[in-house]
Amino acid sequence: MKNPVRMCIYCKKRKFQKELIRLQCIDKELRYFTGIGRSFYLCHDCSSLKEKKLLKSLSRECKKEIKTIDLESLLNG
Ligand SMILES: [Zn+2]
Repeated sequence: MKNPVRMCIYCKKRKFQKELIRLQCIDKELRYFTGIGRSFYLCHDCSSLKEKKLLKSLSRECKKEIKTIDLESLLNG
């Protein structure tokens, strides 16, 4: 079995894909990857951060300003 390695957009650490959260932006909101469109990866360590720098990184990926990060509800909901 292949274990694809992907990079977390925030800490830039390379991890196995299964250890990362695959996200995308839809209408300025973070969502789990739906299978369509551009996506990016965030590791579990970074997903629990509430830093402004993280929002900046996410905004850069989304090409739109992300003002809030609510990954907890994404992950739990
Ligand atoms: Zn990370």
